[in-house]
Amino acid sequence: MLEVKGRTACEGIVIGKVFIQKPKEFNIERKKIESNKIEEEIVRWKKAMEKSKEDIRRLKQNLKKKLNKKELDILMAHIVMLDDPMYIKDIEKIMRVENINAEYAVKKISDKYFNLFEQLKDPVYNQRKSDIKDISERILENLLNEEEVKGDMNGKIFVGREMLPSDLLKAIYENISFKGIVLEYGGETSHVAILAKSLGIPTLMGINSSIYVKFLENEEIILDTRKNYEKIIISPTKETIAEYIFLRNEIELEKEEQEKLLELPCETKDGIGISLKINVAGMVDVLGIEKNKADGVGLFRTELMYMESSSFPSEEEQVSIYEELIGNIAKEKEVVIRTLDIGADKKLSYYEMKKEDNPFLGVRGIRHSLRNTKILKTQLRAILRVAYGKKIKIMYPMITKIKELLEVKEILEKCKEELEKEGILYGKEIEEGIMVEVPSVSLMAEQFSKHVDFFSIGTNDLTQYILATDRLSEELVDLYDPYDPSVLKAISFVADAAIKNGKGVSVCGEMAGEEMAIVAFLSMGIYDLSMVRSSISKARSIVRKIRISELKEIKKEILSSENSKEIKKILNGYLKKE
Ligand code: PEP
Ligand code: MG
Repeated sequence: MLEVKGRTACEGIVIGKVFIQKPKEFNIERKKIESNKIEEEIVRWKKAMEKSKEDIRRLKQNLKKKLNKKELDILMAHIVMLDDPMYIKDIEKIMRVENINAEYAVKKISDKYFNLFEQLKDPVYNQRKSDIKDISERILENLLNEEEVKGDMNGKIFVGREMLPSDLLKAIYENISFKGIVLEYGGETSHVAILAKSLGIPTLMGINSSIYVKFLENEEIILDTRKNYEKIIISPTKETIAEYIFLRNEIELEKEEQEKLLELPCETKDGIGISLKINVAGMVDVLGIEKNKADGVGLFRTELMYMESSSFPSEEEQVSIYEELIGNIAKEKEVVIRTLDIGADKKLSYYEMKKEDNPFLGVRGIRHSLRNTKILKTQLRAILRVAYGKKIKIMYPMITKIKELLEVKEILEKCKEELEKEGILYGKEIEEGIMVEVPSVSLMAEQFSKHVDFFSIGTNDLTQYILATDRLSEELVDLYDPYDPSVLKAISFVADAAIKNGKGVSVCGEMAGEEMAIVAFLSMGIYDLSMVRSSISKARSIVRKIRISELKEIKKEILSSENSKEIKKILNGYLKKE
């Protein structure tokens, strides 16, 4: 029996077989392509080349802090190789001359280069030999239908180096369910973690790659992602398995108890109603609204819609996506749509952003939108159109200064004027709010209050920017702590300003669904929380245990604490007392 530690991204206990993500064995056949279909085949190959480049760029970005310069240079070399005119020309030529399929052409030309480099005994070429193998595998992976490989994953615990949110979604759409996920890279607030949480898949991150070899494919392991346990148990004994089956059943019973509360009002012991909403990125989340009796959507992350497209979606396309996803819900319940928040860790495969040394401090969110007003206006018009007759609100991400807010508000007014002139119906009275993710907004919340209808606190980024700690960093996980008194103070400032000025205030970062954080937010007068759908029933059970009149002291104690340990003790103490 061997235990390996990680960090939890979604809590739970799973006992299951392992699927290991590993380089695939390619069985490439030579296929004849009809002359009139060869152009189509070439387009298919070019797309795979582009996708491969994008994969490497993303990987490079994600691994920036994990790898040394030499290793990063290897990834750079792969991108350069994918652009190598000789290599590209050779593949295209053989496809046209021999009328053959892309997979075979890639394999044949790559093998040719591989053999060539092998004959040259120089170590530089030795490196290039492995580079060519690597990139050809990547292109082939992108060319080949992945279904076959995915079939094996169904119902297993996925263990891999990294996973993209879109990969996880793709798998879900293809009816592949994961019992659990174990990844080498990614943090609790990375987007794949958020998605896994929304899907309720127990997930562990930050495990060391060297343990992979210790896993046997299809071996049964235990994944315990409960906070403070956060481990994998390899080769568990019979007794351990029995113990975990017992624990798992207990958790399931507790969940059932929580689900029974769904029929009861979400209010505190002293009768204060608390609004629990869900965060939405795609259809999988929307399905949770009715089931969990959520009060609406507190954050609709529109990035996924852009990520799933092959180019920027047009106004019409966006209108139909919003309609399909939240059209019906928004007739009854509030839905907050956030404008595109790309940059830093959120990328679009078809859109190359300018390289920056510090992308998290660079052009992201509203900064990108205000520099690319065509993209922004298309989205604003689409949101305005869908808002007609519905309870839709609009929200801007990564606002730092009042000037930016005024600029985007002016653009929204222009869009309204255009729609008016064109005789198109739109939500005239749409409310506008901002994400509070940058410390400047918290410090200036009083002044911002004059210009917004509501604030929504994004604790994922707010923590990162207050503590100057990358939310994805593996090394600094201890520093990235949303319970740090500085972060809670910033949140309290915003709540005070909003309440004083009669503006809405909610939290939509990952913290909103955490037991201890719910006590803290309620103590600050924040009664509107938006979270992943799988947290709603638990959150409801916590709310029903709280008495607001008892929280005054708690707020004082939190705000005078020196560190998060003290704060957690206070919050936990309250939860245990009840
Ligand atoms: C946040 O930063 O807390 C947030 C909700 O936005 P995202 O996680 O999409 O960056
Ligand atoms: Mg954010």
